[in-house]
Amino acid sequence: MSDDKPSFNLTDLKKLYATSSGDELSIDLCYSGRKAFVKPMKVKDKKDLLKAIETKDEKLIQKNLDDIVEKYVTLEDGRETDDLTVQERYQILVSIRRAASGDETQLVHQCPKCEHINKNIPFSMANIVTKNFEEPKTGGTITTAGGAIKIILGPVRRADEKKLEKIVYDKKITLMSERQFIMMAGYISKIVMSQNDITAEVPMKIEEKIEFFENLGNRDLEVITDYIKNTDFGVKIPFKFKCEKCEHTSDEEANVAVFFIS
Ligand SMILES: [Zn+2]
Repeated sequence: MSDDKPSFNLTDLKKLYATSSGDELSIDLCYSGRKAFVKPMKVKDKKDLLKAIETKDEKLIQKNLDDIVEKYVTLEDGRETDDLTVQERYQILVSIRRAASGDETQLVHQCPKCEHINKNIPFSMANIVTKNFEEPKTGGTITTAGGAIKIILGPVRRADEKKLEKIVYDKKITLMSERQFIMMAGYISKIVMSQNDITAEVPMKIEEKIEFFENLGNRDLEVITDYIKNTDFGVKIPFKFKCEKCEHTSDEEANVAVFFIS
């Protein structure tokens, strides 16, 4: 076989399949603004996911969700799905779910007051809100050491989130606060330092980012916390809740993972 013979790769195949199946959705990603093509989920994968959820093994559930994203999405420029921000990954999951049903669906939600699990809460897909990323007015850079170190912040990428989840898992961390602290290190996008007329990025592994993050001063930590608060973007699933058992009413937001399997 000659090397210059025209050939196709898996990306070509996926793209052709995605554009030729009639019921796929085209969405604009909430961080990059680029397009993603989403196909409706097949029963087989939903069954596998439900099995994973039954095991309550968070690692297995996330792996299933990653496999689903990988399988049902084609990114405009052939980027890897691991390069997506966490929010874009959720946006895609919501879209896969959305592509698989009509305009009306039903949610499952636990009452915040009496903890009763309400099933079959009517929900219209039109109520889903997607908020695009906006750089906060306060900026996304921390400058320290008299200007010699710049910490550039950014939303967490799925690739980093996976590594952070693995660390949490391997270290058997169960406390929510400790877990949140480790996950925050994912917001450090890159670190640039200047010394002796040289300005360059310092390559850092995720473990090194965690260590660097833990050694930051309280003022820098506040900047990161503000950044996270001010860049709250992605998909929101708001609905009016009324508990069928205790009649408690409130404005609630469905969890993306729960929505996905509802
Ligand atoms: Zn209730």
